[in-house]
Amino acid sequence: AVALALRKVELPLPTEDEEKVDLLLKRYREQLLASPERLAEVEAEFLAQMRDGLSKRVVVDGKRMMMLPTFVTRLPDGTETGECYALDLGGTNFRVMHVRLGPGKGEVAACNVEEVTLPKEIYTGAGDKLFDYLATTLKSFIDRHSIPPSASQPQPTLPVLGFCFSFAVEQDGLDSGRLLAWTKGFSCSGVVGNDPVALLSAALERVGRPCRVAALLNDTVGVLAAQRYLDSDTEVGVIIGTGTNACYVERLAALTKWEPPPGAVAAAAAAAGGAGLDGRTAINMEWGAFFSPQLPRCMEDLQVDAASPHPGKYLFEKLLSGMFLGEAARRILFTIAKEASSGNVAVAAAAAMIPGPLATPGSLSSATLSAIVHDRSWGLRTTRRMLVSELGMHQPSARAAEVVKEVCTLVARRSAQLTAMAVLAILRHNGWAAASPPRPVTVAIDGGVYERFTAYRTMLTEAVSEQLGKRSSELFPLIKFVLSHDGSALGAAVLAAAAAVTATQ
Ligand code: BGC
Ligand code: MG
Repeated sequence: AVALALRKVELPLPTEDEEKVDLLLKRYREQLLASPERLAEVEAEFLAQMRDGLSKRVVVDGKRMMMLPTFVTRLPDGTETGECYALDLGGTNFRVMHVRLGPGKGEVAACNVEEVTLPKEIYTGAGDKLFDYLATTLKSFIDRHSIPPSASQPQPTLPVLGFCFSFAVEQDGLDSGRLLAWTKGFSCSGVVGNDPVALLSAALERVGRPCRVAALLNDTVGVLAAQRYLDSDTEVGVIIGTGTNACYVERLAALTKWEPPPGAVAAAAAAAGGAGLDGRTAINMEWGAFFSPQLPRCMEDLQVDAASPHPGKYLFEKLLSGMFLGEAARRILFTIAKEASSGNVAVAAAAAMIPGPLATPGSLSSATLSAIVHDRSWGLRTTRRMLVSELGMHQPSARAAEVVKEVCTLVARRSAQLTAMAVLAILRHNGWAAASPPRPVTVAIDGGVYERFTAYRTMLTEAVSEQLGKRSSELFPLIKFVLSHDGSALGAAVLAAAAAVTATQ
């Protein structure tokens, strides 16, 4: 009787509902983890949408991939030299970077990075305020890092800046374009439809630190360029961070929708230095906007979307990226807690089975989710401690922690499976799997989820080899996933430095 009583106190879910919990877990497993057949259907739609996006005019409804030309027709080959700054805006943090490239091939002589957390009122307020904030931070950074001119490195009149702006931009040159839509948590007024370079340049003038913005690029393009500087097999750049997206190198001939202004390609090619892409260009897919009714989703995904800053849009991103992983898991856990207590929230709450924080959006961060997935402690003590401190649970049992861990793992695994599906679709689109002999290819990846969530990387490689099926042992060794740490900013700097050097020659 003593043992029984103790057990009752420890369990957050009543014993009679154990069976119900198992049934619910089974349901989520089926809903979130797509079968190989289902994934193949999703991939077919993904490929069809890629081809559509390459051939038809851009539609900005957040429900299809926009396949945006980047004007990057040359990529770094490691011979770039020079000094440059980069500004990397895209997630909850933004980074400023100073680099000196060379003298040796692929060498970075100096690299200083500073990360600043953007206050919410800045990324949801007036556009001018956002750009003033960026300009002020950059000015103080440049004042601290600028190096006195020397004979070998004459200082250009204006500091050269690469601007990595991690949103959908329709470019009309390597250094200009217009914002098509905000994503992630951003919603600043007066920016959509305008040129981020013009807005930044104006703000830099206002703070008295004018710069020459030589390149405007998406973070995926930055990652591609940074890794290409080191490895010429790099064909794809992926971000799995706050948001998610990819770019890849495509034949200009396949990009039938694009009529670049006369001379623009040649001008961009000349300006960008580096190695030519032989009639190919980098395409920013905006894969976060992909949608197919075949995507593995559950009720809670619809709720996550409805409560997000941009409902109905970028639904693929909402299944993959760091901004949403924790929240999807939290909503699923909330459902389990609710249904396991016979659907009576009042009773459950009274019994302290649904603690306040579990019912509160945002209370389970993706960082916590990742820590839970990583938990190998005895009796999942680490998870239980986090459930108490972050979700307000009262003495969670080992079983409760197991349920939480399984849900977190499911949500992460789904993301990894879909990332694998999308990367493989790009490679297949490029004829990689059909080439004989198949060639090696490097996929450069950055973003907080990929960088800090080790188990995620394992899940991704597992998913890739699963999805390659029979040819896995032949093809998989040829794919290299490489973490390109700070790649977006570094790539911005490299592209801008190359552009500036070529322009002054
Ligand atoms: C943006 C992309 C970006 C990605 C990763 C998405 O929300 O639309 O442009 O590359 O996030 O930062
Ligand atoms: Mg980033």
